[in-house]
Amino acid sequence: MSIEQKIKALSQELDEHNYKYYVLDQPEISDFEFDMKLKALQELENEYPKFADPHSPTQRVGGVITKNFPTVVHQYRMYSLNNVYEIAELQEWLERVKKDLGETVEFVCELKFDGASISLTYENATLAQAVTRGDGYQGDEITANVKTIKSIPLKLKDAEANEIFARGEIILTHEAFHKINQEREELGLETFMNPRNTASGSLKLQDSAEVAKRELSAFIYGIYGKNLPFDNQWAMLQTARKWGFKIPNSAKLCLAEQEIFNFIAFWDKQRHDLNYEIDGVVIKVNQFFQQNELGYTAKSPRWAIAYKFKAEQAKTRLNEVSYQVGRTGAVTPVANLEPVLLAGTTVKRASLHNADIIKNLKICLGDMVYVEKGGEIIPKIVGVSLEDRPANAQAVEFTKTCPACATPLVRTEGEAVHYCPNEDGCPPQIKGKIEHFVSRKAMDMESIGSETIAQLYEVGLVQKISDLYHLQVEDLLPLERMAQKSAENIINAIEKSKKIPFEKVLYGLGIRFVGETVAKKLVEAFPNLKLLQNAKPEELEEVDTVGTRISKSVVDYFSQKKHMEMLEDLMNQGLQFEAAEKELTSNKFENQTFLFTGKLAEFTRDEAKQLVEENGGKIASSVTKNLNFLIVGEKAGSKLKKAQDLGSVQILTELEFLELLK
Ligand code: AMP
Ligand code: ZN
Repeated sequence: MSIEQKIKALSQELDEHNYKYYVLDQPEISDFEFDMKLKALQELENEYPKFADPHSPTQRVGGVITKNFPTVVHQYRMYSLNNVYEIAELQEWLERVKKDLGETVEFVCELKFDGASISLTYENATLAQAVTRGDGYQGDEITANVKTIKSIPLKLKDAEANEIFARGEIILTHEAFHKINQEREELGLETFMNPRNTASGSLKLQDSAEVAKRELSAFIYGIYGKNLPFDNQWAMLQTARKWGFKIPNSAKLCLAEQEIFNFIAFWDKQRHDLNYEIDGVVIKVNQFFQQNELGYTAKSPRWAIAYKFKAEQAKTRLNEVSYQVGRTGAVTPVANLEPVLLAGTTVKRASLHNADIIKNLKICLGDMVYVEKGGEIIPKIVGVSLEDRPANAQAVEFTKTCPACATPLVRTEGEAVHYCPNEDGCPPQIKGKIEHFVSRKAMDMESIGSETIAQLYEVGLVQKISDLYHLQVEDLLPLERMAQKSAENIINAIEKSKKIPFEKVLYGLGIRFVGETVAKKLVEAFPNLKLLQNAKPEELEEVDTVGTRISKSVVDYFSQKKHMEMLEDLMNQGLQFEAAEKELTSNKFENQTFLFTGKLAEFTRDEAKQLVEENGGKIASSVTKNLNFLIVGEKAGSKLKKAQDLGSVQILTELEFLELLK
């Protein structure tokens, strides 16, 4: 097989696996196997750039930066839909359509996906352009970003049409949405409010690699073009599915009106079990010749209508606002409500997010408030009914002191969150820190629940993480509901945790903004505690994803005597404070230091670093006369200049560096 054929075969194989995973939800190989194949393809493409294809599966990871999204005119206008909110209104519409057409009409019912609409142009069965709806006449071209969405085919399977325009909706599943928010929370960033806005916001990010991380999905519901091989909506859906588009099975061809009403009733309930948001049902006349006969109004087709589900809102009284303190000291306001039934569950509490939101809502105690259940698990308050406001109602004022320890709260300029600064004396923070330390992703001490932690804290046995390691079975036995066996389990789990790797220990310490990923990256860059605690802010910031906020927090943590004392204790107890030795592939780079600068095209910084370290080399943090190699990518700046001035540093391109490895 020639290299070109090899690249083609591998691309096709990967496209097929992508399709099975993201469109059919039926993966055939493990993520690991997929990654290995993708890596192999990437390597071939790097080595033989002339065979690289802009529609290769390697393009899914993104990396294109778009500063301004060009405006593109839609060849087929993107219409809105007329809405109805009541079955009676829908019935009227159905009657009118039937009367206008004067013949039997079939309808297709589809879900109304709640995301951002997109138009995809395919030329010769490959994705050429992706454009937002904009004002319906023209939108923004966001092709590079859309290419990262894995349920959108980059190439169609045996498409018969030359040029087609696919219409669909880009969405975030609840799962992807929560993942993004969890990561943002770990990084101390404000979380997003709902999946729809997050999806449309993601499409306009300038760095497509960031879009790739958001894990967006897309559903297609329309195909436009000339000489299409179908003449009705139902056949269109089936054909589009064959071409490789993701089309949920929920769509239904309805011959009798009752079927439409049943469809609506079914999904009004069932939508709560979907993994994504829908805001209604779209009912479309099936046959294209009938659609053409009905035509369009100025804004929307006459042949389709959206039945919108009632917003899942309830009105109830705000009794009280209470505040919760998290392990980092972040204080979150919670609305305590008169219990009310909402989307099948009784709601007693709702999130009020932060002080800014309370201020914007101008909310008062005793107010009747509107509660909504959106994409989030916790319901939220979206509005206040002013006409129900009791006389002399008192505006809610964000608490000035910690509800647990009465310490005055602090708020950093530019941040939405208030913190209780009393780290060592605030019970929920102390208990929260210990809970975090023993949690699965950290020290994984399953046998220690939050109740046990609360007891240990209250009797004074455990006031900080390191106290755990001084516990003995006899200490535990007097606790309530503590049998010999459970006590032994706890002590064993504590003992076992001494083998947990450094990066998890670091994560477990609960340093503000140091989540799982950041901990891992820090340990890679600073493989033992000593190096990490001596790292200067600018050295920390060389680590990918570490900005000033994280570096400040890390430096601050290690500058406190009490933390250093605790760490020394933990070290004496035998916990891991050094990264496990990695196995080397060679010692080619022994005693050599490397530094990468500029925009790298052949590998990411992490990969480069890995290559150096796997071969026994070290990564330097700045250009000094001890540096052996500087590898320069595009737009290298001051580091290159400095290396040139020094004259002792060997300056290599990325390809020359790869040559060294051979
Ligand atoms: P609206 O924005 O309320 O005017 O509704 C029109 C929008 O609904 C369209 O621009 C589409 O993005 C979206 N939509 C979601 N699901 C569908 C569907 N199954 N068929 C047509 N449009 C849909
Ligand atoms: Zn406090």
